[in-house]
Amino acid sequence: MRRQMERILIIEDEEKIARFIELELIYEGYEVEKAFNGRDGLELATTQPFDLILLDIMLPELNGIEVLRRIRKVSNVPIILLTARDAVVDKVAGLDSGADDYITKPFAIEELLARIRVALRNRTNDSTKKDLTELSIGSLILDPTKREVLVDETIIDLTKREFDLLQYLLENKNIVLSRESILQHIWGYDFLGGTNAVDVYIRYLRAKIEEPFGLKFIHTVRGVGYVIKDE
Ligand code: CA
Repeated sequence: MRRQMERILIIEDEEKIARFIELELIYEGYEVEKAFNGRDGLELATTQPFDLILLDIMLPELNGIEVLRRIRKVSNVPIILLTARDAVVDKVAGLDSGADDYITKPFAIEELLARIRVALRNRTNDSTKKDLTELSIGSLILDPTKREVLVDETIIDLTKREFDLLQYLLENKNIVLSRESILQHIWGYDFLGGTNAVDVYIRYLRAKIEEPFGLKFIHTVRGVGYVIKDE
């Protein structure tokens, strides 16, 4: 089974810098997408799976801090901020808003690459705290080590949140989970968005792991929540 290439999103309006970083990252074996303003960056970050995001703070359309806040509402993807020299306020606001790290421009590419490796490794460490045995139901296999999901031997692209949700359901196979318990487990106690988020993400999951294959894994238990079970 091949390891999925790690995908990095660069949100940076200075196209020369974005292009330079992109070339270096491709050379290092990463897959890269670019956005040149905050709005396009946010759109990409919230609709496609990425392993890491490089986010400039001074951006047209929507500034980097606002992009960061909005991404954090739906994703824990590692984010490294690209900040201007001496922009102390930006750095503090950025870290407060959930950035994993920042790097001051101009930077040496080696330093950026090192910080990217650290951020990706930390993310992996988080997931290795959990049980690492493979989970499965029918033709669906979830590998917590590789953070990979297969249905009928096809690799499924899931966002971090979708993956965590599916893993939680599988760890509790045949057990009905309330929306509240799912919410607390996946989003945390301080999440203010309400249990609608659970229904939305269950829909995202179904669209990826069930509908394309004509299979049914996740069952709605009216008035309670959800259960993943064998037919
Ligand atoms: Ca900029």
